Amino acid sequence: MLHIGFVLPPDAGNFKPFRSQPLTSLYLLTILEEKFGDRLDLSVIDLRGISRENARYYLPERDVYFYTLMSQEYRNVCEVKDLLCSIYPKTVHVAGGVHVNLFQEDSAKQFDSIVLGEGDETVVEIVKDILNAELKPVYQSSEPVDINRYPCPDRKYIPLPAIVETGLLAGENMDLPGTSVLFSRGCPFRCSFCANVNFGPTRFRTPELIEQEIEYLKKDYNVKALALKDDNAIPTNERIARPFLEAIGRTQVKWRGQSRANGISADMVKLAAEAGCTDIGIGIESVWPETLKLINKKIKLEEAKQYIKALRKYGIGARLHLIFGLPGEPQDIVGRTLEFIEESEPSSVLLNLFCPLPGSDIATNPKSYGIRNVSPDWHDYRNLYARFDEEEQPHMWFEYEETTPWGNSMSSERIIGNYSELQAILRERNLNF
Ligand code: SF4
Repeated sequence: MLHIGFVLPPDAGNFKPFRSQPLTSLYLLTILEEKFGDRLDLSVIDLRGISRENARYYLPERDVYFYTLMSQEYRNVCEVKDLLCSIYPKTVHVAGGVHVNLFQEDSAKQFDSIVLGEGDETVVEIVKDILNAELKPVYQSSEPVDINRYPCPDRKYIPLPAIVETGLLAGENMDLPGTSVLFSRGCPFRCSFCANVNFGPTRFRTPELIEQEIEYLKKDYNVKALALKDDNAIPTNERIARPFLEAIGRTQVKWRGQSRANGISADMVKLAAEAGCTDIGIGIESVWPETLKLINKKIKLEEAKQYIKALRKYGIGARLHLIFGLPGEPQDIVGRTLEFIEESEPSSVLLNLFCPLPGSDIATNPKSYGIRNVSPDWHDYRNLYARFDEEEQPHMWFEYEETTPWGNSMSSERIIGNYSELQAILRERNLNF
């Protein structure tokens, strides 16, 4: 029997390390079990919530270790991998994920094998090759995977307290036991600050599979609340949105998600409310039109206001997602943002400080955005200061040239000052998410 462990790296700096399910790893584990049955011993080595220093005490021996890597996790993953190699020198280490796709050469030096593209099909090929002692250094899947070919991710690989939690929804739904789910992959937009590698047409799970997964979570885990991790939880295409929302609605759970700020009709908002939606996070990012243009957001502020109004009308909480420090931001962004908040009346605001994530257009072409001195310390990158770690102090990972393509820039101190000022006002008004 081949013993395989999927490693979730230490993440002790995270305010709530178990808030999101490791859905990619769970999908791959489920596919492997379906394909190989009891020829494999499959497990998750869950180091989330454990400090880097203590990780060494939680490393069981396996024949093969799999890693799914984002750049922020790179240092921690490599440390764990090096420890495993020193304790169990005969083991095999395979990595995939956003970081591996962006930094292929370096990743190939770190791991025995790397996976480029989506791993759903290649993971099977890799295990077959390991069983035949024919592991290749690189596996590439170029075609988008048909996500409806696979069963829903089995949650049995992680313990119950790390799957179900309360506090996922707000207000009267706060105490409902809930978990996170993902019913689609890909995003057709190209925001220049986003490091989404799944650009391209969105692929959705069928209504039947969505319903099946929720019923499984209700039956086996008593789940009554869901956090949809989809980039667009109310699809902008009504032909897709209707059956998608109706399927969730039939299960009678309450849920939250995030969506575009435009292209969603009042009819779809009404349907989302009827389908149990209680909160929607809206990626507006900035209330300054010039910045929206520079980041290729393709939304108009007036449309966003109308959308927030429609959400309010149907009783869905609207959470604004904003980022300070984006290119083109004016000095008086705090006042302008407050004006927008007062006019549109969202239920809460999640304010982030901009961080040029590897893979985004801004990080790839910093000069054309007037950006210099980008920090190479990815492990230190955070773009969720508001709630990521209570102890953290706001910090910038780059600076703007004094003169940028859109005129004079703001200093990092000024950007942090603006961020802290608005954050304090939001807290005072009880709007801070
Ligand atoms: S920010 Fe959201 S809408 Fe824009 S590309 Fe990324 S996932 Fe898509």
